[in-house]
Amino acid sequence: MIIGAPPAPEDRDRGGPGTPLLDVRGLTKHFGGKGGLFGKAKSGVVRAVDGIDFSVAKGETLGIVGESGCGKSTTARLVMQIIRPDAGDILFDGEAVGSQALSLGDFRRQAQMVFQDSYASLNPRLTVEETVAFGPRVQGAKPAAALAKAHDLLHRVGLEPRRFAGRYPHEISGGQRQRVNIARALSLDPRLLILDEAVSALDKSVEAQVLNLLLDLKRDFGLTYMFITHDLNVVRFMSDRIMVMYLGKVAEFGPSEPIFEKPGHPYTAALLSSMPSMDPDHRTQEAPLTGDPPNPIDPPSGCRFHPRCKMVSTLCSQAEPRLSTMGEDHLAACHLADPQSGHPRLAAA
Ligand code: SF4
Repeated sequence: MIIGAPPAPEDRDRGGPGTPLLDVRGLTKHFGGKGGLFGKAKSGVVRAVDGIDFSVAKGETLGIVGESGCGKSTTARLVMQIIRPDAGDILFDGEAVGSQALSLGDFRRQAQMVFQDSYASLNPRLTVEETVAFGPRVQGAKPAAALAKAHDLLHRVGLEPRRFAGRYPHEISGGQRQRVNIARALSLDPRLLILDEAVSALDKSVEAQVLNLLLDLKRDFGLTYMFITHDLNVVRFMSDRIMVMYLGKVAEFGPSEPIFEKPGHPYTAALLSSMPSMDPDHRTQEAPLTGDPPNPIDPPSGCRFHPRCKMVSTLCSQAEPRLSTMGEDHLAACHLADPQSGHPRLAAA
């Protein structure tokens, strides 16, 4: 067996290829709030994640995009159980996380996370090799085997062990630190990697190198990614499917190309129109997104995007749109995507 190589995928694929690796239903997290006694609703509650459903297929990359505060990073932390959900079910390869069949510890060995701040994620007192060997050591690997695995993984992420193994986090660059974080995440042979703005702090040239490295590792290790970013160019480059979030809700979900070519939600269209394009044939005609997202403590009634939407009608402030099918596996939470909604623009079309 190659040191650092994960167990064969068929040994771990309990649910079979048709079962999503991650299946999330009704995930909810509200922060803060006062009152709530004697049946009264709490006031001042931040609805960070408000009952979202999504799945990630085995071997795919799901990109999650949205403006800051939309709930994408909270979603990642809820999936990892770094913060406890208020409600919702999380199934990993068909088994409920935290159940008898899949303890939290077992899940966390199979799902790892890489954060944006490469320096804060590392222990400044551990060398690079100690950092990567730490997980296998805690899991019971002998020191020599853990070190050999760390060296193999460092090599795989482009850090030659002879040069980098003995260095401390402050002695290497931001891009190199993020490679160490990736090697550490791989040290427990995970199946799912959640990358939360993992390249956002890097220079563009270093970012491109790390993105290509992530694609290589995904192929070589048979990984599945949840890729969270605010950068639409990056999400398009990396993702098979995309989930667009707005104020704690799913605005749009679907395969990457249909979403980029023909977005179904005016919010997605506005986000895309704010992307710089070098191709004159691919410039969107939508007006760019203006203003900040509304306060998540008191989200707008009906469709949460209605105060900023060019296509708004009275219906939009009164009724919350459901996720409607736009095409195969392509959903948008907009009355314009639902032929039965009664949005006046549908009659005019
Ligand atoms: Fe705009 Fe109405 Fe669609 Fe919301 S439901 S995105 S306000 S058109």
